[in-house]
Amino acid sequence: LRANFSILQKETGFVNGLITVLHDITEQEKIEMERREFVANVSHELRTPLTTMRSYLEALADGAWKDEEIAPHFLNVTQNETERMIRLVNDLLQLSKMDSKDYQFQKTKVDFVKFFSGIIERFEMTKEQNVTFKRNLPQKPIYVKIDQDKLTQVLDNIISNALKYSPEGGKVTFSVEKRQQFIEISVKDQGMGIPKKNVDRIFERFYRVDKARTRKMGGTGLGLAIAKEMITAHGGQIWATSMEGKGTTIYFTLPYEPSEGEGR
Ligand code: ADP
Repeated sequence: LRANFSILQKETGFVNGLITVLHDITEQEKIEMERREFVANVSHELRTPLTTMRSYLEALADGAWKDEEIAPHFLNVTQNETERMIRLVNDLLQLSKMDSKDYQFQKTKVDFVKFFSGIIERFEMTKEQNVTFKRNLPQKPIYVKIDQDKLTQVLDNIISNALKYSPEGGKVTFSVEKRQQFIEISVKDQGMGIPKKNVDRIFERFYRVDKARTRKMGGTGLGLAIAKEMITAHGGQIWATSMEGKGTTIYFTLPYEPSEGEGR
């Protein structure tokens, strides 16, 4: 690129055009590379549960079905793998919908504090681990314009990760803070954390810190990528901070305009 640039620099006017063309090619190559990588990832993610299922089904067909102890266990494995594939395909459909330009959000004005409390309560009622919940929520309502279904999905992904990685007896802290033009939401856990160099990558599609471990936990590797798409589409930002062995906090923002009578 640099060689061509210096040769053509003399012919003023032509240089800009050339640079733009070269730039477009590399950008396109990057997109193409990402697309190939994505297809490879999807294929791999689907092949794993399928080969597992094939082994268990073969064993059942070979006679394991007659064993009253083994058969239910083997069937259970194939059922879990099927569930995981369904989750994966649903996540993929969700992402591909978001990728298409004509995607519509159904935004309504809601009290975020009430909305968030409802989701936290649902997790508190259904959680199976010994984890305590702490709420740092404002007393007064905060009205924001959001697509409730999408934000529910974002919070479901973040909170289920926080619970998944929480240690026995751990604490999960939920906070909402009002800033000038936005609100900042955070979910903090006391789990194993994420190595510093990987923290920003957890929002990439299929990125997992520990592939084997997280796949075993039933994740698709797409939860936070979907969350990022949805928060960005709401005009917000999402990021994480983490300390290995200490815990992880996921933050996101949503645009907010203080309205009449709401107070600050
Ligand atoms: P997955 O379905 O694997 O959970 P996500 O997109 O939700 O996919 O998360 C991506 C990866 O980020 C996870 O596989 C995990 O390695 C890491 N991660 C996400 N949340 C946490 C957390 N609260 N504590 C530790 N690691 C986390």
